[in-house]
Amino acid sequence: MPELPDLEIIAAVLAPRVVGRTIRGAEARHPAFLQSTDPPLARMEGRELTGTGRRGKYLLFHLSGGLLFAVHLMRAGWVWHGPSRYDATKSTVFRIALDDGTDIRVIEAGFPKLSRGWLLTGPEEGPLAELGVEPLDEGFTLERFAGIVAGKRRQIKKLLVDQKLIAGIGNAYADEILFAARISPFRYAHTLGEGEIERLWRAIPEVLRWAIAEIKARVGDGLYQEEERSFLRVHGRAGKPCPECGTPIGEVLLGGQRTDFCPRCQHVDEFPGRARGAG
Ligand SMILES: [Zn+2]
Repeated sequence: MPELPDLEIIAAVLAPRVVGRTIRGAEARHPAFLQSTDPPLARMEGRELTGTGRRGKYLLFHLSGGLLFAVHLMRAGWVWHGPSRYDATKSTVFRIALDDGTDIRVIEAGFPKLSRGWLLTGPEEGPLAELGVEPLDEGFTLERFAGIVAGKRRQIKKLLVDQKLIAGIGNAYADEILFAARISPFRYAHTLGEGEIERLWRAIPEVLRWAIAEIKARVGDGLYQEEERSFLRVHGRAGKPCPECGTPIGEVLLGGQRTDFCPRCQHVDEFPGRARGAG
């Protein structure tokens, strides 16, 4: 599933291709895709695409007149940009036709199709209204983060992926952030000391910015179908040696999701029985 770094790259790659173009039409090609009814999709016609962006795990298309189209790619959606004359396949769930003869398409193969879109009249509407703080914004201060963590009797990883608290971090980058901060994903938030909270707070934007640079170095100006994750240090590396200490990376299911960590660097043995090394 695309997370903040992936969506930052998609928005940045799309911008020079599509910003400034006028929209000829927009069409939802799968009945579940469009989640908004007012304003109607036809309201996009004739508007200029003034910018691309991201909020949380939503890809944003800013339109003239203050309208905004938000896309959530969910698990398997991806964005395609190319000539409108190429036939849209069954996998095309949404398309925006531009005046230069190109389309922006949301593609999702297989079933069920989970990607969704909303035409909104502002950045605080629809699903965007529920999102927490942006971790790369100036507003993500240590004080703010400490307030998010304070007194929460929840495992810290579950807190990091809660979009209503902090927007944009998912399963993979939560693992990477916790590894960078040397904190066990199983720790309860209310048990973290001041030093640990500060370490975690610093690790969040550091890891996300590092990932953006790593992805950019690999994909260049291209749009890609699969998330680029080959550079990750713990996530998806169960059983392989920790890049810091060589201990095999451990893996457990946490809330139905794969959680990968270094038992040694992240002091997971502080919580015996909750986790074990892979294999
Ligand atoms: Zn380690």
